[in-house]
Amino acid sequence: MSPSLGLRVRDWGLEILQTAFRLLPWPTEPGLRSIGTPDESSPVLLTCNYALTVRRLVATLEGCDAWLVVAPTAGINVWCAAAGGHMSTHQIVSALKTSGVAERVRHRDVILPQLAATGVLALEVFRRCRWRVRFGPVSASDLPAYLASGEKTDAMRRIRFSLRDRLEMAASWAAPTALVVGGGALFIRPEWALPLMGLVVAMAVLVFNVYDRLGPRRKTTFALGASVAALAVTWLAGGAAAALATAAIAACFVSALLTYDYTGSTPIEGGSHFEERRWTIAFDLERCDGIFRCWEVCPEACFEKLESERKVALAHDDRCIRCGACIVQCPQDALFFEDEAGARIEPDVIRKYKLNLLGRRSIDAH
Ligand code: SF4
Ligand code: SF4
Repeated sequence: MSPSLGLRVRDWGLEILQTAFRLLPWPTEPGLRSIGTPDESSPVLLTCNYALTVRRLVATLEGCDAWLVVAPTAGINVWCAAAGGHMSTHQIVSALKTSGVAERVRHRDVILPQLAATGVLALEVFRRCRWRVRFGPVSASDLPAYLASGEKTDAMRRIRFSLRDRLEMAASWAAPTALVVGGGALFIRPEWALPLMGLVVAMAVLVFNVYDRLGPRRKTTFALGASVAALAVTWLAGGAAAALATAAIAACFVSALLTYDYTGSTPIEGGSHFEERRWTIAFDLERCDGIFRCWEVCPEACFEKLESERKVALAHDDRCIRCGACIVQCPQDALFFEDEAGARIEPDVIRKYKLNLLGRRSIDAH
């Protein structure tokens, strides 16, 4: 086997393994990497040290010349690391100061993934090390076009969950669950192992492709329907006892999916299922001075620019997934979370405690 073929086989093996178990941290070596033949005016990109991200980013940038700073984020992907405090201002400043990139380039502009905006304070990075942070596209696949044009289009700012993303998330849930369910069945009824693993995979694919497109009532109907369908199929295939057992497991599985902190796994939809109070994004128009950082970093395009007034409008707050990125980046503290009774979570609290509302949180502002 030639060395390059061996490398490709190894990369594909890692790609499959890390995609199937992407809920685990997969750290790769932090530090400075060169892509192509960069020089002192080449762009500087910075990302997490999640192996899957770095490998895909490097592959996407083939043909570009750039410096890539890989920051130590505990082997966690950008959004989870930024939302969970592992990709913070401190890590970014530290990576910029210690990677040696400052000696390789003349400029001080660094491009971060847009989804890092939840955890990294751009103004604070500049204050501490004089690097200017720009938030690039949400998706790495848009980077070559972004680097070529210097413009971030509307499509580059919005988060998209393509069929491929959904299938990858399904695989990452199905793989460990199927192993546990199938492995357990081997000790009890070996002939159930494969059908049960198939059921787990089918459920995961269905849930990730259907669940977030349904309203609350339909989600319950979906869960019941999926359980009844599992019962019917296994009844026809394996007799009464097997059907009942499989249906019970299917019902448990669906219940687990529905009660699991779905938004903590992937921000496929807004949080709040478990909160006692519903916090929503709120806006003080008086404070806004139209710098448009909120517009720049919002992954759901909730803001519209009012160019002539140098203000923004929170035009689509119904789409807000409460990631907190706009609040963290707003230099005027014009954005905050508020509940129905008017209690606020102030921007400073959100910045200090990484208090985005992705995932399961129960918060008392008093
Ligand atoms: S970042 Fe703050 S000040 Fe700037 S446009 Fe948005 S709300 Fe207004
Ligand atoms: S408006 Fe909502 S979704 Fe958009 S950046 Fe702010 S908190 Fe995140």
